[in-house]
Amino acid sequence: MLNSMPTKIKRVSPARTDIYWSDGHVGSYPSWYLRERCPCAECVDEFTGKRKLAPGSIAASLERVDVTLVGNYALHFTWSDNHSTGLYTFGYLRSLCPCPECLPGGLKEPSPRVGPEGSFEA
Ligand SMILES: [Zn+2]
Ligand SMILES: [Zn+2]
Repeated sequence: MLNSMPTKIKRVSPARTDIYWSDGHVGSYPSWYLRERCPCAECVDEFTGKRKLAPGSIAASLERVDVTLVGNYALHFTWSDNHSTGLYTFGYLRSLCPCPECLPGGLKEPSPRVGPEGSFEA
């Protein structure tokens, strides 16, 4: 059971958000990584719980437009692809922590050429 709360949300850059937890842990979250794991009904199938976004479908260049605190339990992000329906509860965010301690092997950056708009030429 996780009781840790964010004590500080640091907007390092539009592409990265650091979260300082009440137990002293710090997670540094890339925007594309959080966006790809958006827990909203559009991104996760409500019946199967299966994620609809394929890994790598979010561009590494995706940016955080805004982040706000929701009540005392979640963060709300607005992303540069205009998606903003996901509520990231503290417990969920903590479970996503991509630091080497929480995610052995670390994160793989998606290919920068895969963009939400797509750029196919006929
Ligand atoms: Zn979503
Ligand atoms: Zn961690």
